[in-house]
Amino acid sequence: TFDLTGKKAIITGGGSGIGRAIAIILAAHGAEAHIMDIDEAAAEKVVKEIEAENGKASSWKCNVADATDVQAVFHKALDGAGLDILINNAGIAHVGNVLNTSAEDFDRIYEVNIKGVFNTLKAGVEAMKSGGGAIVNLSSVAAHVGISDRFAYSTSKGAVHAMTLSVAKDCLSYGIRCNSISPGRVHTPFVDGFLSKNYPGNEKEMFEALSKTQPIGRMGRPDEIGSLVLYLCSDEAAFITGSDFAIDGGFVTL
Ligand code: NAD
Repeated sequence: TFDLTGKKAIITGGGSGIGRAIAIILAAHGAEAHIMDIDEAAAEKVVKEIEAENGKASSWKCNVADATDVQAVFHKALDGAGLDILINNAGIAHVGNVLNTSAEDFDRIYEVNIKGVFNTLKAGVEAMKSGGGAIVNLSSVAAHVGISDRFAYSTSKGAVHAMTLSVAKDCLSYGIRCNSISPGRVHTPFVDGFLSKNYPGNEKEMFEALSKTQPIGRMGRPDEIGSLVLYLCSDEAAFITGSDFAIDGGFVTL
């Protein structure tokens, strides 16, 4: 069973898309969801959705790229209690190859997608190490296959995969399991923002074209990602650590 009653969960970037779906499914299975997002209003909206279904949730404004902010917010949110589940989901996208990616953009992607995960792992493992727990990091298919124009993004997600292995190894003795998941294209505001920025006026055609690049013929849904994360956080997955799971309609393998 997937009973998370009494478990405290932190979901970064939980105000939108995949993070929102993860927060909703964890709370629906009994977890208390602490939703941290740089966009406080978005996080608060998800809290209201969860509360409307009689779930437990709270919203926290947090910039994962800011180590001081992360330490302070984790401290406040947990209030001395241990942490059971950490979902490192906050991330930002970038389009560019090795030649046209600016040093500034490279740093910006790394600050959020790598340093951000480092910051929350540091605070999260500290809060988890006395009681054990489960960590799921959001990597991407972009860490596993070459995708055009994703230089900074792909390498940042490769680092997420490597951080997962390192934490899984070093934190085994604390009873902490750490895994990553690598979604293919999932229909979220992240994708809509990408299409309107890069293909203004042509969003519909590009949406169809992107859907067809996945062998299964469509994009994934955020709730489908949520189901995998729920499993990985539950005791049903007690034998799984240091693994990465593709959830991509066959994109990487077929
Ligand atoms: P999204 O843009 O819909 O949501 C991301 C959330 O993270 C937003 O609420 C945003 O406010 C928050 N956020 C951004 N920067 C932050 C920061 N510095 N501190 C705290 N919160 C911050 O994105 P999504 O599509 O739901 O993606 C979620 C994760 O999944 C990302 O790590 C992304 O790289 C990964 N991913 C997405 C896809 C996809 O196709 N959507 C595919 C593979 C991997």
